[in-house]
Amino acid sequence: MPPTYLTGACLCNNITYRITLSTPELYPDLIICHCTNCKRYTGAGFSTNIIVPSSDFQYTKGSPKLYLDIGNKGGQVLREFCPHCGTPFTSQSKSDMQMIAVKSGTLDDEHRVQCTKLVTEIYHHRKDEWVASIGTEHVQKLDGSMG
Ligand SMILES: [Zn+2]
Ligand SMILES: [Zn+2]
Repeated sequence: MPPTYLTGACLCNNITYRITLSTPELYPDLIICHCTNCKRYTGAGFSTNIIVPSSDFQYTKGSPKLYLDIGNKGGQVLREFCPHCGTPFTSQSKSDMQMIAVKSGTLDDEHRVQCTKLVTEIYHHRKDEWVASIGTEHVQKLDGSMG
């Protein structure tokens, strides 16, 4: 049976959250953002997000810290992260507080793997060139062994 909720946590597990799925059989689509601020915020080549209604997202343990960012187009962007381990949770445009972008890498494994459909790339003109080489035969593939 499909879940009614998606759950997630930060690296240190001090903060957890829950997303209510209005349609349980429909997992949210993925949207990636290549803007400079998302690269910095996530420490990655781009941010990977699911966008859900703000009212469906709630923290179930702990409180994140809020960083008020100025987006690449000049608008205010609210970014929440764990003050203990630094995991980025969300970003939200102040001009549209109805929706919230949740960093999909923070979802619990069993829920993250269900979000399989990438539908949109934002700031695609700022995409780092190496991104296109992911999955190609030119890139060495190793099994994970970071601990
Ligand atoms: Zn944490
Ligand atoms: Zn961005």
